[in-house]
Amino acid sequence: MKTFCPRTSSCPIFKEGVLLRETSIATYKNLYCTAGPQRYRRCMRYKTAKKYGKCPASVMPNSTLSWEEIEKKIKEST
Ligand code: SF4
Repeated sequence: MKTFCPRTSSCPIFKEGVLLRETSIATYKNLYCTAGPQRYRRCMRYKTAKKYGKCPASVMPNSTLSWEEIEKKIKEST
């Protein structure tokens, strides 16, 4: 059995209707959240939360934003 991301209880990806269409959420869950440590550690939401202690809702798991762009989003959301 694969280990799930430790952020599943708090991540908005797991709250239906908060972020995306259901099909997109299911895809992200399969690719990152429930696919074991090697996958969820690549998730940009996971990496952002680890680095800054939080992650803006608009940062997706496969985001290609730079850290500078993410920092800007964090500042805008506080
Ligand atoms: S989207 Fe990323 S941070 Fe959120 S539960 Fe899935 S793997 Fe973890």
